[in-house]
Amino acid sequence: MSTYSAVMSDGTPDPGRDHPAPEPPDAMEAPSPPGGVARLLQLFLGGDRRIRIRVGQWLVTVPVYLGGAAVLAMGATYEAFSAGLFGAWCGYVAVVLAGVYAALRSGWSARFEDASLTAAQIVFGIVAVDWAYAIVGPARSVALYPLLMAFIYGAFSLHWRTIAALTGFALASLLATIIGLNIVGNGAVWSFEDPGFRLDLINAAMVAILLPMLSLGSMRLSSLRLKLRAERSALAGALLEVQRLATHDELTGLANRRDMQHRLDVELARCERFGHPFSIAVIDLDHFKRINDAHGHAGGDEVLRTFAGAASRTLRATDVLGRWGGEEFLLLMPGTGAAAARCSVERVLSKVLALPESEGPAVSFSAGVVEYRPGETIDQVVARADEAMYQAKRAGRGQVIQS
Ligand code: GH3
Ligand code: MG
Ligand code: MG
Repeated sequence: MSTYSAVMSDGTPDPGRDHPAPEPPDAMEAPSPPGGVARLLQLFLGGDRRIRIRVGQWLVTVPVYLGGAAVLAMGATYEAFSAGLFGAWCGYVAVVLAGVYAALRSGWSARFEDASLTAAQIVFGIVAVDWAYAIVGPARSVALYPLLMAFIYGAFSLHWRTIAALTGFALASLLATIIGLNIVGNGAVWSFEDPGFRLDLINAAMVAILLPMLSLGSMRLSSLRLKLRAERSALAGALLEVQRLATHDELTGLANRRDMQHRLDVELARCERFGHPFSIAVIDLDHFKRINDAHGHAGGDEVLRTFAGAASRTLRATDVLGRWGGEEFLLLMPGTGAAAARCSVERVLSKVLALPESEGPAVSFSAGVVEYRPGETIDQVVARADEAMYQAKRAGRGQVIQS
């Protein structure tokens, strides 16, 4: 998560300061080859975690359809309706199940916001329920039960507007089925004397009451879920901002003193462990008070930002420049000896001296460069660099002294 772990894990410091989090260990390890059943299961569910979850959700609907098929099979056996109608229903369910599975398993559904195709599956389910209701005969009330399940599942992934639309579709399509059934099946009897008509009326009334109530609960759950998600993402954003503030200087965007101190400690530990050299430079802008006096505090701030940008662009990606305080900067150059470090800082000085007028007031700096000596503390090495920087000031400013 932190830039610190990135520094330590890949062996190089993090100059970009927005280093991506390192992969968790389990993502980096090659998975051990699965056994027979496990391999089959993996083939069926897919390797991708998100696809596995989607296919798992689809799998839950399979026993419900199978149960529905069993009820219908019983009706067909006891001549409530023809085997042909039952066969057509089974064909429809098989095509829907296979199609949805293929869309989920192949990853094709990922292009949609509703990647688990929950709404589509509910629509297919409603059609299956209506169809079953139309053909099953006297036991048709049973065909309505799965409707309730569909709307409970919808609550976990759908937006409340989609749930409301699906509820409308379920009610309208069931009503159309009942009307159709009473026209085609009963020869438009429309009489309370007819037990079939009474049953349909009761079913329609029950569904018209129960389904909206259930959907209301689902919609409440769904809006709670959306609210939770928004709060979680706001929290994650705030956490990122806190992390950025803790390690960055607001004005220049460079590493702040606290972060530099940590990076120095890490570099010292690495130097002691592996014997890699490292050098540091203390850089102090010259006559900065005069710049403030001439251009105001805001002008001075602009000069600090311009310096930070120009220096960062000139340095190597592995070097880390931080704001040490005021108009003073600390440069950490891992894996760099004193002579090469001095060259780097002189390159920065030439760049800063050559900045065009359009970039703001002219500025120079004095810098002290030192290479870390084994056994020294960070305070000691910084004090030596400070001393070299003051020598550069005394020698007339606008120069780099290595000691
Ligand atoms: P020298 O060459 O000896 O370093 O002279 P100097 O004027 O740079 O030195 P001094 O340390 O006396 O003054 C530093 C000035 O930098 C004083 C302070 O007002 C100014 N300063 C420190 N931090 C900031 C800042 O964040 N923004 C602005 N605009 N000025 C700052
Ligand atoms: Mg100064
Ligand atoms: Mg100063």
